[in-house]
Amino acid sequence: MSDHPVALVTGGARGIGEACSRALAKDGFRVAIHHRSSGDAAARLADELPDARTFQADLSVPEDIDTLIASLKEEVGRVDVLVNNAGVNRNAPTPSMKLEDYDFVAALSRGTWYLTKLVLRRFMLRQKSGRIINISSVVGHMGNRGQSPYTMAKAGLDALTKSLALELANREILVNSVAPGFIETDMTGELPEEARQGILERVPLGRMGSTDEVADVVSYLATRGSYIHGTVIHVNGGLFPG
Ligand code: NAP
Repeated sequence: MSDHPVALVTGGARGIGEACSRALAKDGFRVAIHHRSSGDAAARLADELPDARTFQADLSVPEDIDTLIASLKEEVGRVDVLVNNAGVNRNAPTPSMKLEDYDFVAALSRGTWYLTKLVLRRFMLRQKSGRIINISSVVGHMGNRGQSPYTMAKAGLDALTKSLALELANREILVNSVAPGFIETDMTGELPEEARQGILERVPLGRMGSTDEVADVVSYLATRGSYIHGTVIHVNGGLFPG
């Protein structure tokens, strides 16, 4: 096992997470590619990236997170960068949204908090350094029709960034959010064409962003950005603040 620093990317096998895994590998990190159901994609990616490993866990299940932390300890020994990228959405107008939909979205938020807490306790506080990068969303700031649980979760994630930044300021652990706008991934691929056109009309740059354009900022925060702490960096083609 090399002694290169380790970056854990949740949901690191596809979409924005995959781009982050690739960018951080290029930066010299051993990437711990976390996935829930994309085991094959994670294994293919790990074959391409030097010293990368895959880790399976459903982050809405606390016991899975306990097991993930134990496996990280055993297989890679440290976590220097945590990218909290995994996210889920449910679309429906609030009056017809089901309680199960809210719980589905909120369970992953709880898991993100619990994973972060354990990464801090078991790794970063002992190592006396670390970087935490939370992938939130522009809609946590602007709101979005039909996504009330998701917008709550993403606004909450930015609040977690700010609280942790205050708690960890004297521990050499930097915490920031990256808030993407509309990015070409499976998540936005599900949008009906009409909704897609509506979005593009609102984006000053007139196009969706790429996963690499988000990963570039994550890479910057993971490797440089030494005076950036407790903030939200927007990557949205000018959509917000407009
Ligand atoms: P995506 O393609 O839908 O991928 C979602 C990721 O989350 C997958 O890697 C998935 O892992 C993981 N995941 C979902 N539920 C999980 C669970 N219970 N436990 C563990 N992992 C779970 O998403 P994306 O578009 O790349 O988005 C990545 C992040 O950026 C999300 O947090 C999303 O909210 C945020 N974001 C996206 C956009 C956009 O336009 N795409 C805009 C703003 C913010 P498996 O595939 O292994 O199941």
